[in-house]
Amino acid sequence: MAVLQVVSPLLPSSYFFSKISQSKHQIPSKSSLQHYKHPQFSLVSSLSRRNFKQHSSFGRFTITCSAHDSASTTNEKSEFVKEKSVSIVLLAGGQGKRMGASMPKQYLPLLGQPIALYSFYTFSRMPEVKEIVVVCDPSYQDIFEDTREKINVDLKFALPGKERQDSVYSGLQAIDLNSELVCIHDSARPLISSSDVEKVLSDGLRIGASVLGVPAKATIKEANSESFVVKTLDRKTLWEMQTPQVEGLEVTDDVSIVEHLKHPVYITEGSYTNIKVTTPDDLLLAERILNTDSFVPA
Ligand code: C5P
Repeated sequence: MAVLQVVSPLLPSSYFFSKISQSKHQIPSKSSLQHYKHPQFSLVSSLSRRNFKQHSSFGRFTITCSAHDSASTTNEKSEFVKEKSVSIVLLAGGQGKRMGASMPKQYLPLLGQPIALYSFYTFSRMPEVKEIVVVCDPSYQDIFEDTREKINVDLKFALPGKERQDSVYSGLQAIDLNSELVCIHDSARPLISSSDVEKVLSDGLRIGASVLGVPAKATIKEANSESFVVKTLDRKTLWEMQTPQVEGLEVTDDVSIVEHLKHPVYITEGSYTNIKVTTPDDLLLAERILNTDSFVPA
């Protein structure tokens, strides 16, 4: 992503942007971005001649968003993401209560395979991926452990936290600090395609932070507390956020200067098929998509 910065992976994707005024090929301006704060997460920035760097400190290490010069214009050739340079944090620590099932939604069978294993296998087959850190309750680790002989990436585990962002934080503690990018994905999105992952990784490397999203299809209105419409939002400026989210990673001891910053995150246009399985209807839809001849997840 371009001369830019980072968005904290500790935040739910809804914190990122609900509204971006630029087209999909433009890097959002600072004013179009939301601020966010997290008690365990802080940001340090430095502006260099060639690029803008931003550091997010986690005590043990620092997430850095640094954009290459090429990011100043957007329709440029992709950045080359090196082999084994990416750590995946696969979030599978939620309860998924809206599914109303006896187990968390990410472990429900989708055409006979646990939902969480779909994206897990997709990532595991990508040459750029060095390791997958699965954030899950220990009672579900076997599901992933059983794949060890079939995969060519390192497999690690981290304990989930109370909220999604706590699970992200936990997963980040386990990643290999030699990785260049960290890619955070909701295991409840089984249909992520490797081509979309390639795109968001490339943008993450180029700009410093990226997230998959699709242009909003629905008409979205803002209402007041009495449910009266106060504003119709301009759909052309609205994007629905998905995962993965990608950020540059750099190890540094410099955690002394701390401040919160606004940081642009590039939205990489993804696919409408990258749905999040939340309710039984979503499970049926995911089955239909998987059964569509033209669908190629990996
Ligand atoms: O609940 P929601 O659908 O927003 O969760 C998104 C993803 O984050 C899911 O894959 C879920 O398993 C994960 N999650 C987590 N730890 C939590 C809450 C959610 O890993 N405490």
